[in-house]
Amino acid sequence: SKSNGRNSVHRYEPELGRAADERLALSRRMRVALANGEFRLDYQPQVDLLTNRVTGVEALLRWRDAELGPVSPATFIPIAEENGLIVPIGEWVMQQACFQAQAWQSTLPGLRMSVNISPRQFARADILRVMECALTRAGLPPSLLEVEITEGALMAYGSIEMLRAIRATGVDIAIDDFGTGYSSLSYIRTFHADRLKLDMSFVRGIGEHREDEVITRAILSLGRALGFKVVAEGVETDNQLAFLRRHGCNFVQGYRFARPMVAADAHAFILNFNEG
Ligand code: C2E
Ligand code: CA
Ligand code: CA
Ligand code: CA
Repeated sequence: SKSNGRNSVHRYEPELGRAADERLALSRRMRVALANGEFRLDYQPQVDLLTNRVTGVEALLRWRDAELGPVSPATFIPIAEENGLIVPIGEWVMQQACFQAQAWQSTLPGLRMSVNISPRQFARADILRVMECALTRAGLPPSLLEVEITEGALMAYGSIEMLRAIRATGVDIAIDDFGTGYSSLSYIRTFHADRLKLDMSFVRGIGEHREDEVITRAILSLGRALGFKVVAEGVETDNQLAFLRRHGCNFVQGYRFARPMVAADAHAFILNFNEG
């Protein structure tokens, strides 16, 4: 393509080239990171608004590359989706999260672990085997594991059979980024999920944009009517918290209570929080 459209090629190629180079570099480093065990999980507490206790945590993947520094999952996970590395990385996440959840049971009995599942993992038939294998090796009861699947992934790859099969194992399902995936309201009846995670873009607008408050209230009442618990994510302020409480939100997660933390810090935080 270098021979035609000379002007536009000269104008645009350097940028495109750089972006492609960066993705390639990230792919290469990711492979190394996986082989060397350089990934880590942070854990972010989820507070039950009924009891004011932390009842679960979400596992969030972290990667600090020796050359590149910390790389955000928002950057590297889409690339891992594309190059397929998300499959072995996702298996590692699942296993690590289950080990951690089981290790916490003696001091934090009943604490639930939520693990993000990417679209590509969800599209694979062996996701059930991966889950069950991780649970068995860790000795973790399935009822203490929840998988988070985005509404978008569900629309694209989800089958009702898959959701049924996951729930039949006793593992819970949360629909992540709920409200952003363009699913029709009638479709959520077929989701067979336990919890809806209200996308943080709506939470952000509480006290700012009336439309976001209207949507938030609508999702909370929809959840109540259809038997889903609702988790609000990205809760940062007292005002957001008060609004969510007032409108019957079940769980909240966000900087208002705690950021994602390394395992030891998360453990200390939860022990202290639940004592008070
Ligand atoms: P997500 O699943 O929606 O995770 C929530 C994101 O919001 C996390 O970003 C979390 O650190 C951030 N967050 C939590 N509370 C607040 C808050 O109060 N304010 C703000 N501004 N942000 C908050 P993070 O850790 O950068 O992860 C980004 C995304 O990467 C996740 O979005 C998820 O889609 C993906 N991801 C993270 N870990 C994994 C993983 O293990 N597997 C897969 N497949 N995806 C993952
Ligand atoms: Ca999530
Ligand atoms: Ca269950
Ligand atoms: Ca989310």
